[in-house]
Amino acid sequence: MSIPAPTVGELVPSVRLLLGPGPSPVHPRVYRAMTTPQLGHLDPQFLGIMNEVQAQLRFAFQTANPFTIAVSGTGSAGMEAALVNVIEPGDTVVICAAGVFGNRMADIVGRCGGKLVKLEVPWGQVFPHATIEEALKKHAPVKAVGIVHAETSTGAQQPMDGLGKLCHAHGALLVVDTVTSLGGVSVTVDDWEADAVYSGTQKCLSCPPGLAPFTLSPRALDAVRARKTKVQSWYLDAGMVADYWAEGKRVYHHTAPISMVYALREALRLVCEEGLEPRFARHRRNAAALISGFRALGAQPLSSDGERLPSLNAVTPPEGVDEAAVRKYLLADHDIEIGGGLGPLAGKLWRIGLMGYGSSQQNVVTVLAAIEQGMRKQGKAVAPGTAVSAALRSYDGA
Ligand SMILES: *Cc1c(COP(=O)(O)O)cnc(C)c1O
Repeated sequence: MSIPAPTVGELVPSVRLLLGPGPSPVHPRVYRAMTTPQLGHLDPQFLGIMNEVQAQLRFAFQTANPFTIAVSGTGSAGMEAALVNVIEPGDTVVICAAGVFGNRMADIVGRCGGKLVKLEVPWGQVFPHATIEEALKKHAPVKAVGIVHAETSTGAQQPMDGLGKLCHAHGALLVVDTVTSLGGVSVTVDDWEADAVYSGTQKCLSCPPGLAPFTLSPRALDAVRARKTKVQSWYLDAGMVADYWAEGKRVYHHTAPISMVYALREALRLVCEEGLEPRFARHRRNAAALISGFRALGAQPLSSDGERLPSLNAVTPPEGVDEAAVRKYLLADHDIEIGGGLGPLAGKLWRIGLMGYGSSQQNVVTVLAAIEQGMRKQGKAVAPGTAVSAALRSYDGA
């Protein structure tokens, strides 16, 4: 028997403008870093690069945690790493779920054998800390609270200040998803007193998908060390992975994705060069202009003022507009990708990612012009420039 070779042509993907929920546009410097030569994963040069990436990640996360690494895998691997290490069978875990990613955390808790307490608010809203406190009291002892800082499925931004202190007062660890905030919205792990925090490379860091920044507080590491049972996952066992990342140890566990580490290093160099505050201000400025443009079209943001993510803008399309047809038109005629609604919000949302390198005035103007045009294709009376001029006035500060 012989299997004939398939005929596969040259790879020529379209050059898309990625303004959906991720992946985001990759910075040219990151692409360049990825084409530099492979080193062995235990080569002293590569070990030096790992040290640099750890220091850069501590800056991005604003943490002094010695355990700060990049997990091999996408953001979901970071989520799984955080939860499988912290949770032992029988532990009570409170998960705040108001979207796809909160629900994913809840699913993983069950798979770890944890006793799930799921808190819910309507999608697009955030969790009052009093609700979390109530659950901590009612279900004591609680091993951990899991919450999503930046819920990409709804565009809601969860207030975090004081949450770690609250959890610790009840003996619980705080697990936080910062996949769509790290590098775009302020993440301050030590100020939040968060214990297990993970992110991804393909959102506000503007890398391809493939690594998950991950940090554990000393308190979380103590909990991992005090486990009575082995971590369910061999690949994501923090203790074993730590022995590879720890200075002086560098014990082989699995082969690091070398080119992705190069990519992340360059992406984080860009973050360091721009500075955190200017970078966050850029994300806020572009989101404000985008929302002004949408409002001029009669499209309203899902979440309330002050609870919206600048990196992921979820808006309800104007009455009578076929949102899916507009997205299809954007991809086919403009090479622009945007997202739609998920779950209960399917067919009811546009989700525009303005993440990292993708958060620019140029992209805001481009996507609004294309959406205006898409609405005119559906016979809507939208004067050309309606949204674009509102966005430009926002940039002018008018
Ligand atoms: C994208 C995302 C994830 C999952 O990341 P993948 O890279 O798709 O595995 C997890 N949480 C949030 C909030 C996300 O936006």
